[in-house]
Amino acid sequence: MNDTPRPYSPRTLAAQALGRIEPHTKAVVPPLHVSTTYLRDPDNAYRSGFAYGRPDNETVRHAESIVAALEGAKAALLFGAGMAAATAAIMALPPGRIIASQVMYWALRDWLVREAPRFGHSVDLVDTSDLDAVQAAVRRDRPALVWVETPGNPLWTISDIAAIAAIAHAAGARLAVDSTVATPVFTQPLALGADLVMHSASKYLTGHSDVIAGALAVAVEDEWWSRIAALRARHGMILGPFEAWLLMRGLRTLDVRVRTQSASAAAIAARLVEHPAVADVLYPGLPGHPGHAVAAAQMTGFGAMASIRVSGGENAAIATAAAVHLWKRATSLGGVESLIEHRASIEGPASPCPPDLLRLSVGLEHPDDLYADLDSALRAAQNP
Ligand SMILES: *Cc1c(COP(=O)(O)O)cnc(C)c1O
Repeated sequence: MNDTPRPYSPRTLAAQALGRIEPHTKAVVPPLHVSTTYLRDPDNAYRSGFAYGRPDNETVRHAESIVAALEGAKAALLFGAGMAAATAAIMALPPGRIIASQVMYWALRDWLVREAPRFGHSVDLVDTSDLDAVQAAVRRDRPALVWVETPGNPLWTISDIAAIAAIAHAAGARLAVDSTVATPVFTQPLALGADLVMHSASKYLTGHSDVIAGALAVAVEDEWWSRIAALRARHGMILGPFEAWLLMRGLRTLDVRVRTQSASAAAIAARLVEHPAVADVLYPGLPGHPGHAVAAAQMTGFGAMASIRVSGGENAAIATAAAVHLWKRATSLGGVESLIEHRASIEGPASPCPPDLLRLSVGLEHPDDLYADLDSALRAAQNP
């Protein structure tokens, strides 16, 4: 194999970490490069392309080229967190207006509302599942950037990437997509017309709940991209080499993990629809989900995140989360262990998250075990 993304599929490229063999030992597993400094040539040049560890690390670059291959991207950059990736992309823009999804990862929404204005940006939160609302907001605001999270936390709201890219581009705006929940396995935002794709690599990309990392990938290495790279190096928003190495190890099994997790989520969601203690199941794979048709068109799988609304309201929801044994009551998502979380108590009053909602991150356990545990917790919470 070589480093070009074709003819091999992304799954093949990721499984072999692009198939690179370390030339000195012939090691099949990529080595971990930890050096912060590199030998200079006698004439003072740095022909290796590596000078200092903040901008230059081979393990980080190797992991970046796998992310780029998975996204069909021209280039990718890794960051010390998903939040660092997202905020670098925004801080690299000239001050202006931004339109962003109303339903999105709460900490980024909160940053956009509270912190972005301090950097000269004004942010308008819009229901990006409604194309008329996006069109009206783009006409009104003349934004430089439209930022969409799809499926959007924690209602799994689906936004139509191709349609929003067309609206944004017609108005001279760029489109960035937080594709953390979709993963590159199920959605290819750049192929659908997005300019930038962002991941919290802390979630599915690493996949084992043991690394905090972020990624950006682009279709075109333009001025915005150079500015993002410069800000990362200057602000030190970098990923450490060991974290990049763990990310690379996670990426090798991404495809098989997320397909299995997604199949389990679909099976569990279908059973929960029939459950007497569940008022509603939010999962884009269910025909009744408002985003189902768009999801079916732009995703090749519906992902492994679902939410339920528990009959009996907030107290019953919290009691259900208290009664599980196998599911772990914890924040985050995308790991091999299944997590359950009452989101409204985390997100606070500005959140669009209803108080009776429990968010489910479906892991790699057997779906029958996961369903049985949730079923008994739901029943226990209805009859305390
Ligand atoms: C976790 C998450 C983030 C933030 O990423 P960190 O790695 O925690 O900084 C952003 N967007 C989504 C959708 C997430 O789930």
